[in-house]
Amino acid sequence: MAKYNTSIKGTADVLPADSYKWQFVERKMLETAGLFGFSEIRVPVFEHTEVFTKNVGETTDVVQKEMYTFRDKGDRSITLRPEFTAGVVRSVIEHGLINGALPVKTCYVGGCYRYEKPQAGRMREFHQFGVEMFGAADPAADAEIILLANSVLTNLGIRNLSLELNSIGCPECRAKYHAALKEYFSARKTELCETCQDRLDRNPMRILDCKSPICKEIADKAPVMIDFLCDGCREHFEGVKKHLESAGLKFTVNPKIVRGLDYYTKTVFEFVSDDIGAQSTVCGGGRYDGLVGQMGGPELPSLGFAMGIERLLMVMEAQNAEFPEAKTIDVYIATMGEAAKLEATKLCMDLRNEGFTAVTDVAGRSVKAQMKYADKIGAAFSTVIGDDELASDRCVLKNMANGEQHEVRLSDGIIAAMYDHQLDILSVDDEELQKILDFNK
Ligand code: ATP
Ligand code: MG
Repeated sequence: MAKYNTSIKGTADVLPADSYKWQFVERKMLETAGLFGFSEIRVPVFEHTEVFTKNVGETTDVVQKEMYTFRDKGDRSITLRPEFTAGVVRSVIEHGLINGALPVKTCYVGGCYRYEKPQAGRMREFHQFGVEMFGAADPAADAEIILLANSVLTNLGIRNLSLELNSIGCPECRAKYHAALKEYFSARKTELCETCQDRLDRNPMRILDCKSPICKEIADKAPVMIDFLCDGCREHFEGVKKHLESAGLKFTVNPKIVRGLDYYTKTVFEFVSDDIGAQSTVCGGGRYDGLVGQMGGPELPSLGFAMGIERLLMVMEAQNAEFPEAKTIDVYIATMGEAAKLEATKLCMDLRNEGFTAVTDVAGRSVKAQMKYADKIGAAFSTVIGDDELASDRCVLKNMANGEQHEVRLSDGIIAAMYDHQLDILSVDDEELQKILDFNK
């Protein structure tokens, strides 16, 4: 197929038949974040390249291999966001949000871009939901965002995810760890991949996150950070665990988790699924106490997480999770003749203004073709109006599911029938409805 009518490798269209799933998931995410006091922030899809190179880390896979970087017509180096955190930090500093009441709690949803090898659960355009909290040093904050991630997943009906927790310390205790890692990997330097040989001097911890099977095998027996934590970091980690235990959230400590971005300090965590094959991390996050300062803001202990929406949907599909049904068409108004067509335009507006989905013919087709269409789009009710219906102000409303027909007045009759049907669906009879109304008075 010609290039101009195929999508780019590693991208996907969400078609109308599936978009309700995305809407449901995104709504639940933002709603749940709202319950924890987080508000949505929207940052640009592209930023100055340095926003990412300087802050995600020069030796990370993301910066070394995966960024979509280009020169714009003004000869600026621009990068499509590979993740949100750096852009959000840039934004909260630029707009002085962190000069107000702390902590600042933000959340986001949107597309990210990474030049990776496309495969199941790994796209070049993918979507993340995430949160960032600025100005919170207490272990309770770490626990709060982990609990928030867990609530999102639970509210979406996802089961059987495991929460893996680790601490990668602060710059002080990490220096000793780096030395130990360097010693360990130096002994097997020639076996490491080229990128990791370079990382050995610049940032040995990055080798632990390499995807090459040989590096992975060597990294398997490397010393772990958790054995090198200073007293402060150890105490913080114990605090996070205590808060999670108090909230009844199960976790396992996995000393191997380091995360793929350089800015993390102390707590790091992942939610992992057994249901979606190799790309099994649905959510990853942690603390990044140095990042705000590094980006030109004040020293401000901060933290966050991001979850991959595509991977999340894969888990939901694998677990047959329930999505609320897509919005269906409540009523289709078929028309015969010009006068009826004009009336249908008005009737549809009356229905829509009451919150019902109403559709009429806009393709100029025969009544037979219109009814076929009504059937195909799954309209719950249909009616045909022509000159007779206009003259008598009555039409026959047909329930498409069971074939039942009722004669009703145009406009208010159709609307009343729609309300009745809504109550039927909710299985609320008039008496019950009255009770509910009385109760709420
Ligand atoms: P991985 O180890 O799988 O490459 P990562 O460490 O690069 O993940 P993060 O940068 O922490 O991932 O991004 C957070 C989440 O975003 C991941 O846990 C995953 O769910 C999702 N994600 C990351 N990269 C992709 C991608 N290329 N395609 C789809 N989802 C992705
Ligand atoms: Mg990655």
